[in-house]
Amino acid sequence: MPDEIVFSRPLRTPDELPNLDTVLRSDHSHGDGPFTATATARLKVVTGASEALLTTSCTHALDMASLLLDLGPGDEVVLPSFTFPSAATAIVLRGATPVFVDIDFSTGNIDPEQVAEALTPHTKAVTVMHYGGVPVDLDAVVGIAERAGIALIEDNAHGLGGRDGERRLGTVGAFGTQSFHDTKNVHCGEGGALLINDERYVERAEIVREKGTNRARFLRGAVDKYTWQDVGSSYLLSELNAAVLDSQLASFDTIQAARNRVWNAYADGLGDWADDTEVRLMSDDPNLEHTAHLFYALMPDHEGQSGLIQHLRGLGIRAAFHYVPLDSSPAGRRFGRTAHPLDRSEGFSSRLVRLPLWAGMTDAQVERVIEGVRSYR
Ligand SMILES: *Cc1c(COP(=O)(O)O)cnc(C)c1O
Repeated sequence: MPDEIVFSRPLRTPDELPNLDTVLRSDHSHGDGPFTATATARLKVVTGASEALLTTSCTHALDMASLLLDLGPGDEVVLPSFTFPSAATAIVLRGATPVFVDIDFSTGNIDPEQVAEALTPHTKAVTVMHYGGVPVDLDAVVGIAERAGIALIEDNAHGLGGRDGERRLGTVGAFGTQSFHDTKNVHCGEGGALLINDERYVERAEIVREKGTNRARFLRGAVDKYTWQDVGSSYLLSELNAAVLDSQLASFDTIQAARNRVWNAYADGLGDWADDTEVRLMSDDPNLEHTAHLFYALMPDHEGQSGLIQHLRGLGIRAAFHYVPLDSSPAGRRFGRTAHPLDRSEGFSSRLVRLPLWAGMTDAQVERVIEGVRSYR
């Protein structure tokens, strides 16, 4: 059998090793050094954010957003059931309640109508996630949040550098969060960022990230010693990780071009197969904006999902399902609530198959995946 085609593999970018060597030879490998500064500047260009703080993970960026919004017991946050657990645990850690709503079946994104229905006098925020970098219905969600006077958090782990027309993903809500986990388009092993789009939160965000101290101001020479100011934790990224991230972000356009090439090959190569087999591909909408973070096939039923994954595995190709709905998961039942059964999240989750998609895939590997999928009936 030919070599296995893995599901995801980070692209090696040119400056990773030289940057790491620079950090290790310097006296500065803790956070907020020179590579944090250059990587942050690059991140602002890629996202269009005016303020960004590198963090140890997207999960920690979501935790910071909850702290900055002063979430507490009795408060509620509305979020999709079909998302990564970090968005929910960030709410529960503050003693607040996640309220799960359903998705729009055509995108996997939160359904704004359900957000509006789920609001109560206790709702403090809504967390959305741009699935695959496909923008949520921002007009609707922003309108709902503004009318209700609640904060919008964009979990933009899939949408780095993505757009919705003129708007840049991650910069529309009060907060946007990014992930640099090694399964994401740009990585540094583990890492993340908090984009802060409401300037009221900027100063406190620096304090929360630095163990509740004003060390960031001290380092800028704005105060002559740093002291404990507030609650917080250690959310800043090590310079070793920032060194890799800086190299990756410098290659952002190369990475995106390579991922888009794979995405487009799947869309071209699988369209007629999908029509013949009643499968819906992610590419069905030609106006779809996305970040080439993932490519999926929505199978007609759950048997089709496990069948295709098994079939590809037999050919040495790793495909994957995705999120298990949070409302029906053990912690979701224990900590959250939902108004009614979330059938679309369940249906999407039980039928979705993601194909291997990474920047270093060769044409031959892409072709093998396409042939493998096409041979499944
Ligand atoms: C990967 C991911 C996260 C978690 O990111 P970490 O950096 O691993 O904490 C959160 N939300 C979404 C949508 C993700 O895809």
